[in-house]
Amino acid sequence: MIEADANVERSGFGRFLWINSPVIFCLLASIALVVAVYNYSFYYYNFAKDQAISQAQETIRRVVMDVSQVFYSYDSILKSSIALLGDEAIAILPDGTKNRLVSRMVAQFPYVTSVVFLDVGGAVRISSGGDATAEQTYGLADFFREQVSGALVGPYLAFTMRTWFDRPDYQVAISRRMTYDGQFKGVAVVFIRLSDFRDQFTNINIGAGNMIALVHESGHILTRKPSKDGRGDFGIELPKADKARFAAASEGTFVATSPVDGRERLFVFQRVPDWPLDLVFGVPVSAVYGEWRHRMTLAGMGAALVCAGFLFLGFRLRRERIRRVDAEAALEQLSVTDFLTGLANRRRFDEVLQREFRRALRTDAWLSVVIIDADRFKALNDRHGHSAGDETLKRIAAAITQNVRRVTDLAARLGGEEFAIVLPDTSAAAAFEIVERIRLAMEASVRHEFGPPSTTLSAGIASTKDRPPPDNVAGLLEAADQALYRAKHGGRNRTELAAAFPADLDDATASDAVLS
Ligand code: GH3
Ligand code: MG
Ligand code: MG
Repeated sequence: MIEADANVERSGFGRFLWINSPVIFCLLASIALVVAVYNYSFYYYNFAKDQAISQAQETIRRVVMDVSQVFYSYDSILKSSIALLGDEAIAILPDGTKNRLVSRMVAQFPYVTSVVFLDVGGAVRISSGGDATAEQTYGLADFFREQVSGALVGPYLAFTMRTWFDRPDYQVAISRRMTYDGQFKGVAVVFIRLSDFRDQFTNINIGAGNMIALVHESGHILTRKPSKDGRGDFGIELPKADKARFAAASEGTFVATSPVDGRERLFVFQRVPDWPLDLVFGVPVSAVYGEWRHRMTLAGMGAALVCAGFLFLGFRLRRERIRRVDAEAALEQLSVTDFLTGLANRRRFDEVLQREFRRALRTDAWLSVVIIDADRFKALNDRHGHSAGDETLKRIAAAITQNVRRVTDLAARLGGEEFAIVLPDTSAAAAFEIVERIRLAMEASVRHEFGPPSTTLSAGIASTKDRPPPDNVAGLLEAADQALYRAKHGGRNRTELAAAFPADLDDATASDAVLS
């Protein structure tokens, strides 16, 4: 009760806030710092990604242009030879001459293995190889069948192809429909060695850890650098998810694990205009985000250190404040405590009595107040000395404390050898019982005569429900004093009530009923 009241100014939430505000503040500052670092990290992450992408795009655009240029020129061979064979003057020449004509045309293209002209059934009619016979047929090949239907206007690119003689090289085929005077006359096909593209890639500096690949729309690699098998990794099939990505857009980016070397890469791809091909450039994720990771590790560690510092400071301050609050409480406690006995002092007694008196009036409750005075204390002092007297006072205080147990009760030393007890919600009769226990305990200690010298007590009790009731606190105290005075004059070592009460009743309503 004393503690609860000592910190009236700093109680409850206000006190909690005052003590914890340094920690709360430092916590908020730490959170702000973490958010800032996170934002910076997020920004820098995207920056690193964008930078890698734009670098890759730059390379890729160049290569895409080269590749489409190459395909365009191969397609031109078909177009011009179709036109050539359609010429009336040339159409009448024997096949052998046509073979030679075509073969001359093709000779300037080192990567072209042959150009063949198939009839409507897919059989070879004319070939740059020169020795073509009708026995050779491509009637089942996709590059033939796709052109027969007539659905296609432009060239068709086939990727699954034969090896070039015995050499382990692959080819792609481009086919075009031959139509003269609106009549379908067959299909022209050019076969190109895949090493063309491989060799083109050889000249591109892609940078360490990076990869570049030309991918057919069927999801197969045409050629790739660096190559795992040393021949461009032809024919390796990409995962379905990657295929879908190429199919969905003409350019884009994604992160995936390479099916060839198992490295995680950031891929940038672009469609080769007019051809069923995609060019893909991959940068290892570790290279893209390496610098970012490094920076963020530093920033993160720095932030953690600062946060730790903040929190350390916050908790230091909090501890200081708790100490201060405790010290203030202790001081406050001291200022209302009697030094000798540890009971409440006069100041505290007055405070509590005032408060309890108002409360008793408000709630129409019992409030009893007791004043106790040691009997012939001067004589005791004279006989045993002042310090022995002090011990006796402590003994009296102990006897009072032992019998005053409720938290709402307050025992005080008013000064000298005079004590008082505030007993809220306690009838005069109940107070009488309590005081008698104290008095009898002291009386017994006088008889036993061990420990410090003892003395008997006289006490006076007054209550808010006495008849007539006291007007104010002073009246109540005056009544208790009067009762004490009677006890002294009645022979000491006794308890007197300010007003008489029926001995068998200590309940308010009952005594009221009897008295009225
Ligand atoms: P009675 O009350 O029975 O009439 O007699 P009394 O001798 O107790 O009365 P009085 O009020 O005249 O004496 C009180 C004495 O208490 C005076 C003083 O010597 C002693 N006294 C007062 N304060 C203290 C104290 O703090 N310590 C000690 N040891 N004695 C004190
Ligand atoms: Mg006395
Ligand atoms: Mg006295």
